[in-house]
Amino acid sequence: MGNCIFCKIAAGEIPAVKIYEDELVLAFLDIGPINFGHTLVIPKEHHESSSTIPEATAGRMFHIGSRIGIALRRELDYDAFNLHLADGTAAGQVVPHAHLHVVPRGVEDGFHW
Ligand code: 5GP
Ligand code: ZN
Repeated sequence: MGNCIFCKIAAGEIPAVKIYEDELVLAFLDIGPINFGHTLVIPKEHHESSSTIPEATAGRMFHIGSRIGIALRRELDYDAFNLHLADGTAAGQVVPHAHLHVVPRGVEDGFHW
């Protein structure tokens, strides 16, 4: 998609701090993190909605997201993490390229979505 910011990140056309990459998905740090380490996992292929992502790619996104969540918890001493996906503007989706948020959480955070 010509004007999609996350497609441009996937293509290396604009910079991002990459956490993980394979043939299906890319994970990179969120530019406006809720907590340090907040990561986004995206399909490399453009999909606005989670509903059109092929099963293998959607499964990889979830698998990698949870592995990153565990790594953030262990390495940065967090207590927990959220996996969160907003599908549609009324649900809070701002960037129209589907993405899974991995948000590390500490007990002092309180819970808020
Ligand atoms: P949404 O509200 O669509 O679920 O989340 C979009 C997320 O993308 C936000 O947390 C925002 O900080 C992040 N974001 C928006 N533009 C960029 C960008 O250019 N680079 C990176 N790394 N993150 C971005
Ligand atoms: Zn895109």
